[in-house]
Amino acid sequence: MWLKKGKMGTESRRVLEVVWEMGARTGSDYLRKLDSGQREVWIAGEKITRNVSRHPQFRAIAQSIAHLYDMQHDPELANQMTYVSPSSGERVGLSFLEPKSREDLEKRHKMMKTWADYSGGMLGRTPDYLNSDLMALASASKFFGRKDPRFGENVRKYYEFVRENDLLLTHTLIHPQANRSVGPSKQSDPFLAARIEDKNDEGVVIRGARMLATLPLADEIMVFPSTVIRGTSEDLPYSFGFGIPTQTKGLKFICRESFAEESRFDHPLASRFDEQDAVVIFDDVLVPWERMFFLEDVDIANTLQEVTGGIVHMAHQAMVKNVAKTEFILGVISTIGDTIGINEFQHVQEKIAKVIILLESLRAMVRASEADAELNQWGVMTPDFKPLNAGRNLFPRLYPGLRAVIQQLSASGLMALPIEKDMWSELRGDIDKYYQAKNTSSEERIRLFRLAWDIAGSSFGSRQELYERFFFGDPVRMAGNLFNWYDKQPYKDRVKKLLHYEEEDGHKE
Ligand SMILES: Cc1cc2nc3c(=O)[nH]c(=O)nc-3n(C[C@H](O)[C@H](O)[C@H](O)COP(=O)(O)OP(=O)(O)OC[C@H]3O[C@@H](n4cnc5c(N)ncnc54)[C@H](O)[C@@H]3O)c2cc1C
Repeated sequence: MWLKKGKMGTESRRVLEVVWEMGARTGSDYLRKLDSGQREVWIAGEKITRNVSRHPQFRAIAQSIAHLYDMQHDPELANQMTYVSPSSGERVGLSFLEPKSREDLEKRHKMMKTWADYSGGMLGRTPDYLNSDLMALASASKFFGRKDPRFGENVRKYYEFVRENDLLLTHTLIHPQANRSVGPSKQSDPFLAARIEDKNDEGVVIRGARMLATLPLADEIMVFPSTVIRGTSEDLPYSFGFGIPTQTKGLKFICRESFAEESRFDHPLASRFDEQDAVVIFDDVLVPWERMFFLEDVDIANTLQEVTGGIVHMAHQAMVKNVAKTEFILGVISTIGDTIGINEFQHVQEKIAKVIILLESLRAMVRASEADAELNQWGVMTPDFKPLNAGRNLFPRLYPGLRAVIQQLSASGLMALPIEKDMWSELRGDIDKYYQAKNTSSEERIRLFRLAWDIAGSSFGSRQELYERFFFGDPVRMAGNLFNWYDKQPYKDRVKKLLHYEEEDGHKE
């Protein structure tokens, strides 16, 4: 139900009031906005409502995200990280660019790689991931406006609002994992999964939960269904898409245990890049009408990422990140090989060669997707999804193997690992003598192996593996989608032709 045209209540006005246009943000802009106003984030039994970026569990990740935004203002990077907004003339983040040519795609690639390299690919949710999705959704605003053009306008305006204010997005797609053998309406409580509770003049009231939102320190949250919505009347209340501030009243983020570590020496990655994951509770959250992208529309709910090209642009970003991550891990294992003198062993070379093969395959997939890009029905230059779809299915299967190579090459080196406190204790003399390496000091060796542990062993490293396995969806169902979507007919025809060659060939023996 869409209420009377032009009607806008007080809550809606409140949302619009916070629109201010500023273009690409600095890190300080991001932190200032993050700490202004009230939100509800829970971690380890503690409720944080203000100054979240200064909380010990979030300080490091907030600083890392701030650094990404600062890169947009680095004189050496600014041109490749930003472009001139078509609406304001301000420079805005390049991941918002609607690509119209292959050159545009390459610009997007370069920008995304620069952000991915900052964390060695360990930050899954640099802002470009969801910016890419929103860009594609907005380009297809007519798709959302099929039944009521105002939904299409909402998506378009939301994109411009996020772009001009350079806001950071998180998103949540999945119903709580209570009983997967039945849909959301058949759970013990129909409001377990977030659903429509009411519709009124102001907007739509949502009650229930969603999992899982990575990077709860975002400015805005987009909410879409990812599992197939059946067209039954029971399923309709779960069919909606919208974007609202993470500071919206009634919105609660329950974070998992923190893997953020204090010491950079001990945990060079976990001390900087624990982006957090949270269950999101909608405690009668009012979503203003102008933030609603679709409502009770099963067709849009089930097809929006495919039809808009959102999935392709997200896959493009994720694959660029995967290249950065594989390069980084190749750097780590090659340095381990040098450091302890094992690079001449044949099986070590074979293991490192496998990583090189994966890296070059991923790179080739990204390049192929760009080379074969075409304008889609919305006029957006869209990478070829075939190699990206193969790549997003391949990486979750092979990433655990990258961690295994680190373990296999490092062996007990991952356990003979003093921590920072040991380094500054009276043990230092022993450490310098007994932890030395073939070609480097004990301290350099320990730093390297601590980094290796953060990838291959620590809680942070385990979460990275889980992330790669699942963040793009259940690998089993993704493979099923690939199987069903991929056009196999030409190859089946070729087989048929060969089997019946005597009917086809002019030449008969
Ligand atoms: C670290 C991390 C970060 C994430 N970040 C985000 C995020 O930011 N936003 C977001 O929306 N989501 C996020 N996700 C969630 C991600 O989208 C899901 O993990 C993924 O879609 C799988 O869903 P699930 O976890 O509910 O697994 P389930 O669907 O519960 O699957 C559990 C097991 O049951 C099997 N199974 C369940 N149902 C079926 C079925 N119908 N057919 C076949 N097999 C089935 C699966 O194959 C799997 O083995 C994140 C996940 C992780 C691990």
